[in-house]
This record gives sequence, structure tokens and C-alpha cells, in this order.
Amino acid sequence: PLTEETVRFGKYQGDTKLKAALEASFRKQLITCKVKENKNLGDFSADRATVFVDMQPETEFKYDPGDHVGVLACNRKEIVDAVLERMKDVDDYDKTVQLQVMKETLTPTGAIKTWEQHERLPAVTIRQIFTRFLDITTPPSTTVLKYLSKACTDQNDAAQLKELAIDSNKYDDWRHLHYPHLAEVLAQFPSCRPQASLLAALLPSLQPRFYSISSSPLAHPHRIHITCAVVVYRTQNGQGPMHYGVCSTYLQNLKPEDEALVFIRRAPSFHMPKDLSAPLILVGPGSGIAPFRGFWHHRKHQIKNLIPNKQKPGPVWLFFGCRNRGMDLYKEEKEKALADGVLSKVFLALSREDSVEKKHIQTLLEDEGAEISRMLLDENGHFYVCGDCKMAEEVQQKLKEIMKKHAKMTEQEYEEFILNLMDENRYHEDIFGI
Ligand code: FAD
Repeated sequence: PLTEETVRFGKYQGDTKLKAALEASFRKQLITCKVKENKNLGDFSADRATVFVDMQPETEFKYDPGDHVGVLACNRKEIVDAVLERMKDVDDYDKTVQLQVMKETLTPTGAIKTWEQHERLPAVTIRQIFTRFLDITTPPSTTVLKYLSKACTDQNDAAQLKELAIDSNKYDDWRHLHYPHLAEVLAQFPSCRPQASLLAALLPSLQPRFYSISSSPLAHPHRIHITCAVVVYRTQNGQGPMHYGVCSTYLQNLKPEDEALVFIRRAPSFHMPKDLSAPLILVGPGSGIAPFRGFWHHRKHQIKNLIPNKQKPGPVWLFFGCRNRGMDLYKEEKEKALADGVLSKVFLALSREDSVEKKHIQTLLEDEGAEISRMLLDENGHFYVCGDCKMAEEVQQKLKEIMKKHAKMTEQEYEEFILNLMDENRYHEDIFGI
């Protein structure tokens, strides 16, 4: 078991590079990117920011539109500082250390104790560990709370933390209402002074976040574009303190010339079809538009290379939705792509715009049901959905209604139809989460 006696920060003489350390910890080869541009998409009155980040990778890399970029973020400095301030065993946060765990081996002559390097955390500074390697914003697990209760000098603090750690109903209610990050937990229990090394061993890793690449290797060589909706919310049903999504806030705050560490994750089931004549139906409300921006830029370059009068690209229909006009992402680019004939039709659903009929993306699909059904049945069309899970389910439900109405399918026929579409890799989903 991990205890204050069996975990420690050992001295480390070598020279470690942060990138190599992250690569070792996440077992991934990372690409260093230089930020070239970072701007707000949509106008400033929009109540939820979405940012566009243009990055220039330092090394060669390969991707196709539809692939994802994994981003290794940093925890916010305020939270890291507040956590480090409470550690009891550290005098210098910026010295390179090696997290070590005691191993006991039984030999005929007795037990031998040795200190071995912790497998997940390479030698870096304590500040780097808490900034880049550990998840300090998801509410601490009951295991962590149990340890924190032992690290309190005040009996009251200890008892309350212990209760949260063992009473699952209390824990769930507390977690749900406060959704506290580690610094907030430590603030709630002022006498708690944990040992940084043990805490580091108990906390989970800070996971990379994925973004659907918004650029095209043809249109933007040696670049990666990201479209990121910035997560900001108040806990306690909107009454509590402000919380900031780790990676989206990190991306929002990147400045030109800053460096970010990323990797590419292929998503072959979300690529564009090889056959350019196949119609594309693209459904992506909000930041779900991210991969489709890569698609239309890619298509524009593909069209340039077509043999005139011999090859004709199929129609590309884009269904986009947002709350109000201020959040109409890539408005000018879409207009240009329409004018250039790259996008054939662009549909916009506004769900909260004054003086406009409130619509969701599903209604737009319904309005165009006859054509959608025809493109899928008769023209080998491809259907792409990108965004959250709930929307994707609703869109699939809507497609079912459409096919029942316009293609006169029965429930069972629809089930076969959609399975076929998936088998033929013509129904594509890129789901962001719940
Ligand atoms: P986190 O720090 O992870 O915080 C998010 C968490 O905060 C939520 O899980 C929830 O627990 C909590 N939370 C959020 N809102 C509230 C609330 N109102 N009340 C209470 N709790 C709340 N995102 C994009 O913007 N663009 C993309 O192109 C994109 N592509 C993706 C592709 C894939 C394959 C996947 C899996 C995800 C994609 N995402 C995309 C989502 C992205 O990966 C991140 O999840 C998102 O940016 C949030 O990360 P974060 O670190 O900022 O937030």
C-alpha cells in the first residue's frame, strides 16, 4: 500500500526534458507546435467563447481531415500554486525530483527494502508534476479523500473528510453540488497538509483532450487548426465559484509563439470518401463544425485538381446550429465556400435568436428529408454527424423518421438500412462526449 512512509521524492541528478518526460509518461510521440494565431470565433457578445487556434508543428506529421489532435494541457497556475502551498514536505518546487516507491523483497536472509522509480511519473520538477502530469481538477476520489483526512491536524476536518470518503451518498451529493477541484477541497479543510509525493502517487494522470482537426493538409500544409468551445461554468447549480475547463482554457490562453505539445490520432471511420462524386451531408452544430471546416477546405483543393468535364464533385450540404447569430462560426468562410461552389448548401438553425423562429438542427434535416433520403438511397451519399452524444442520438432518430416518411421504410427496414450504411462506412459519427 502507498503510505507516507513508502513514497518519497528522491534526488535526481540527470537532466530531463519535459517533452521526453511527457512522452515516457503517456507512451506517445509528441509534436511540438508553435502557435501562429489564436482568435475568437463569433462575436464578443456570444455567451460562450469558441476559439480558433492555428499551430505550426516543428516536425513532419501526417493526417487527413476527420482525424483528431490530442493536446497535452497545463493545469491553471492559480490552482497549482494553491495546491503546492499546502504541501508539507517540499522546500523547492522547481528542483528536479524522482518520485519513488518503496519495494520490499523477501530473501532468505530477511526483507530488503529498495526505492524504485514510480512507473507513471518520470523525473521532473514538482511544479511540472502538478501542472502537466496530474489531474487536480476532477473532484478527488474517495481514496484521495481518505488520505487527506489522515493529513489533517484538526479533528473536525479529519472527521468530515473521512465521512465523505466512506459515505457514498454524502460523497456523491458533495461531488455533484461543488464539483470541487483539489485546491477547493484543501481550502474547505484548512488544517490538511498532505505530503506531495504521496498525493502525486495517488492522483490520476491529467488526460490529453482530443480535438477534431479543422484544417486540411492540402489547404494548410504544415499546420493544424483547432476549433475549441471554451468550457466555463459555475458549480452549485450556477451559484458557486467559476470553473474553467482545463484544456479549452489552456488553448484559449495560448499566445502566438507559445509552444504546445500534441499528437495526431487517426480516425479512419470519419474520413472523406475517396469517391468525390458521393454527396456529403454534414451535420455539426456548435463546435461540431470543427472537422467539417477541414472538409470544405480539403474539397476546395481537390476540386482544383479535377479533370474538367470528366469528373464532377457531388453536392456537400452543411447543417449548422447555434444559439444566436453571434455564434455562427466561420460565417464568412462558409459564405465564400458557397460562392465558390465548394459547399452546395448551408443550413443554419438558430435556437435562441430574438425575432427568428427558434429551430434546432433536427428541424432543418426534417425540412430537407426528401432530398436527404434520395441522396442516401440513390446516390451513395455519406452522412456525417459531429458533436455531443445527445445531439447525435437525436439526429439518428430524425433520420429514422425521414427514411420512414420519404422512403416508406418500416422500422425493421430502417434498422437494416442504417446497419448497411455503417457497414459501407457511409454513416460517420465523431462524438465529443456526453
Ligand atoms: P474539463 O476540464 O475536462 O472539464 C469538463 C468537465 O467539466 C465535464 O466533463 C463536466 O464534468 C464538467 N462540466 C462542464 N460543464 C459543466 C457544467 N455546466 N456544470 C457542471 N459541470 C460541468 N471539443 C471542441 O471544442 N472541439 C472539438 O473539435 C472537439 N473534438 C473532440 C473530439 C473527440 C473525439 C472528443 C472525445 C472530444 C472532442 N472535444 C472537442 C471535447 C474536448 O476533448 C474536451 O472535452 C473539451 O474541450 C473540454 O475539455 P476541458 O479540459 O476544457 O474541460
